[in-house]
Amino acid sequence: MIKADFVIVGSGLTGSTIARILTDHDQDVVILDRRDHFAGNIYDYRHESGAMIHKYGPHYFRCGSEKIWNFLNRFTEFYDWSAKILSKVNDEHLNWPVNQDYIEKIAGKNWEVFKGEASNFEEACLAKMPWQLYELFIKGYTEKQWGVKATELDKELAVRITINKSNVNSLTPNHKWNALPRNGYTEMVKNMIDGIPLELEFDYLQHKEKVIAKKMVIFTGPIDEFFGYKYGKLKYRGQNRRIEHLENIDQYQPVIQVNYPSPEDPRIRTIEWKHLMHSSEKGKVKGTLLTHETPFTPETAANFEYPFPDKINKNLYEQYKADGEKLNNVLICGRLGEYRYYDMDQAIGRAMKLASEIIERFEIPSEQYA
Ligand SMILES: Cc1cc2nc3c(=O)[nH]c(=O)nc-3n(C[C@H](O)[C@H](O)[C@H](O)COP(=O)(O)OP(=O)(O)OC[C@H]3O[C@@H](n4cnc5c(N)ncnc54)[C@H](O)[C@@H]3O)c2cc1C
Repeated sequence: MIKADFVIVGSGLTGSTIARILTDHDQDVVILDRRDHFAGNIYDYRHESGAMIHKYGPHYFRCGSEKIWNFLNRFTEFYDWSAKILSKVNDEHLNWPVNQDYIEKIAGKNWEVFKGEASNFEEACLAKMPWQLYELFIKGYTEKQWGVKATELDKELAVRITINKSNVNSLTPNHKWNALPRNGYTEMVKNMIDGIPLELEFDYLQHKEKVIAKKMVIFTGPIDEFFGYKYGKLKYRGQNRRIEHLENIDQYQPVIQVNYPSPEDPRIRTIEWKHLMHSSEKGKVKGTLLTHETPFTPETAANFEYPFPDKINKNLYEQYKADGEKLNNVLICGRLGEYRYYDMDQAIGRAMKLASEIIERFEIPSEQYA
């Protein structure tokens, strides 16, 4: 029997942040995870080549909040690192995101903007960029990523596409901190949950009868699975990842990530891991290590990555959310629980807010923490 005041299902960033904060407030907490490792989607490990690899896709940390930054610095040192991404377009490696200089080069100064109310992703893109840019960099990439026409996707998805100012070529130039944990994300989470009881390979939904949560269950798994898919399954996209170890090549591509927007290439992007390693460690890698990613629609939760951005799934999620809100002592949250793409800093910020609400609700003294 597993018994605690707070049972936290999931050891990703959401579960681990809430677990840490409640433990700092002297609460009795246990963490359960059905995988054979902790750290959820940000799990990384040392590959036999010597390269540090992120099992569930590359994770680039950026953050603008001092509160989140200070919280994480309790568990790891960071080194400055900012992602540089190139797109392979007509056999050339071009900067992604593009900047104003490039737009002027391909479309001049007075390109025609989409007028009227955008009703889908494609129109929302054409409201902020020339069609030449959309066709070359975005249409093919997006249609591969989601497996449907760009016109079938929600216009909100276009919010994530940014255009850099002149001369700026980095992925997230507006965040104060662009960095990576010195010994990896897994080590960071290990330190975050240090001292908190953790059960791995334990599926809460399969073994509910063995768990007693005296105050609350905090569930960070898929919300539709929690409710036995009673309204139907929420759709996700995931990536098939093919790892390739090139033992006799020092460097394969110029940067960490090269995107392939062309519909002819089934890959969506290739990651070369060496580029994100600390300078003192790169030399220890034998050759170089790559991951080629190709999108697909997963059936099992282990591969659920991106919530599908269309109205059908949005409405389906709202039905589950309404049921979740009726539960008194269960909180369903995190990227799978809220069916929402959160960057890591956003996931931590959200978890901090939820932890404060729990502390308030259960009237847990918090002076010493503040
Ligand atoms: C491909 C990809 C790339 C990304 N890249 C970036 C990036 O570059 N930068 C960035 O800031 N963010 C990135 N993110 C976002 C980042 O991964 C999330 O912010 C973070 O993983 C959210 O953590 P979480 O705890 O909510 O979810 P998760 O990490 O998914 O944790 C949920 C945990 O719950 C466990 N679980 C689920 N159901 C059960 C159950 N029934 N019983 C027990 N355990 C269960 C799972 O095993 C899992 O460990 C990326 C996301 C994806 C999908």
